[in-house]
Amino acid sequence: MRVSVIGAGLGGLALAQGLRGAGIEAEVFERDPGIVARFQGYRLVLDPAGFQAVRDCLPARWHPLLDEIVMDASAEQLILDPRLNEIGRLGAGRTGIVVDRQVLRHLLLTGLTVHTDAALTGYDVLADGTVRARFARRDPATADLLVGADGVNSAVRGVLTPRTVPTDTGVRFVIGRTPLTDEFSGLSKAYGSKITGDGVSLLLGAMRFRTPPKQAAERLAPDVTLPDIGDYVRWAMILPPNGTLGEASAQEAVLSRMEGWHPQLRALIEQADPDNSTLLSIRVVEPGERWAPGPVTLLGDAIHATSPTGGNGANTALRDADLLRRRLIEAEEGRTDLLGAVGEYERQMFAYGAEAVRGSLAKLPAFAPEAKLS
Ligand SMILES: Cc1cc2nc3c(=O)[nH]c(=O)nc-3n(C[C@H](O)[C@H](O)[C@H](O)COP(=O)(O)OP(=O)(O)OC[C@H]3O[C@@H](n4cnc5c(N)ncnc54)[C@H](O)[C@@H]3O)c2cc1C
Repeated sequence: MRVSVIGAGLGGLALAQGLRGAGIEAEVFERDPGIVARFQGYRLVLDPAGFQAVRDCLPARWHPLLDEIVMDASAEQLILDPRLNEIGRLGAGRTGIVVDRQVLRHLLLTGLTVHTDAALTGYDVLADGTVRARFARRDPATADLLVGADGVNSAVRGVLTPRTVPTDTGVRFVIGRTPLTDEFSGLSKAYGSKITGDGVSLLLGAMRFRTPPKQAAERLAPDVTLPDIGDYVRWAMILPPNGTLGEASAQEAVLSRMEGWHPQLRALIEQADPDNSTLLSIRVVEPGERWAPGPVTLLGDAIHATSPTGGNGANTALRDADLLRRRLIEAEEGRTDLLGAVGEYERQMFAYGAEAVRGSLAKLPAFAPEAKLS
């Protein structure tokens, strides 16, 4: 069996790793000109099931490394005012396993065949049941299965289920990160909490690696090269509806809304890494229309993009990757056929994917009361 995976995000890479581990040929096609071509550096909280899913997709020899480049999350989820006084609670505290998306991506990339500068533009299902993917700047590639793991703007989805389109919630946020130094020790109760004032909300989360990723790889898995990054604080400011940066940089835009805020909060933004600060919008994709199982399917944000405030998009993409991997291994071993495997994956994925999107939207108003939810 040959599988073409479109998109080198967490979901597509986890699937490709899982297939490679089972001896199934998988090639990844990524639109970006290079793997580190743009900001990818935020932290993610995985729940135990999401973490187990990515672990199961990786070779066992890398499990000790995976365990060393994460941290345990536990946050009280308070609501604080701009001077860091407690004024409420967001809900029950949250626990989980925190990973850095960029670091995890590097681990997942190791050993894979990944073609960059390979933007899919369309595909054709051929008479023999295989599928030929077409790209903007490279020759077509033919496989038994094409998996669209190409994110919220999925080009694969645009052909497979054109009526399934993203919804813009109108919510815009600026995200960035700042090296975590002793200067910010006073901010610990703000990690995982919402700081609110002046019409905006600021969300902070710490990333403290058990061991710095580069050193961990050198010690535990010399065949893996991980980025040389240290501990940091990820910050995100949710702007008023349809907010823009105007002429300002991401940092300037955030600071302009923090007059009189706690000096450590301002210092955190002032010391941010400019290459890792950007404006993002929250768009969701709700899986609706089903299609007959065939040699093309979708995975991750391409079919169920959640609001980041739900903290479940990566968890769900990794669950997809692990589930599809398991079904395809069954097909490879002759326990089912390819379309049966894809159909069973889609049946389960549609149900929990829709639930993940609904769950994330239910949590959005606590952060952005004016969000457009449908
Ligand atoms: C700030 C923030 C915080 C988050 N926090 C959490 C969290 O705590 N927990 C959690 O579970 N989730 C979280 N998420 C959500 C999570 O990051 C996503 O759901 C997850 O990364 C989706 O993975 P994916 O592989 O489906 O898609 P993506 O990571 O979007 O990858 C898609 C890839 O496809 C490529 N691509 C696009 N079009 C094409 C094309 N035409 N041809 C080829 N390649 C293409 C893109 O360049 C990209 O590399 C967060 C998201 C954000 C933005």
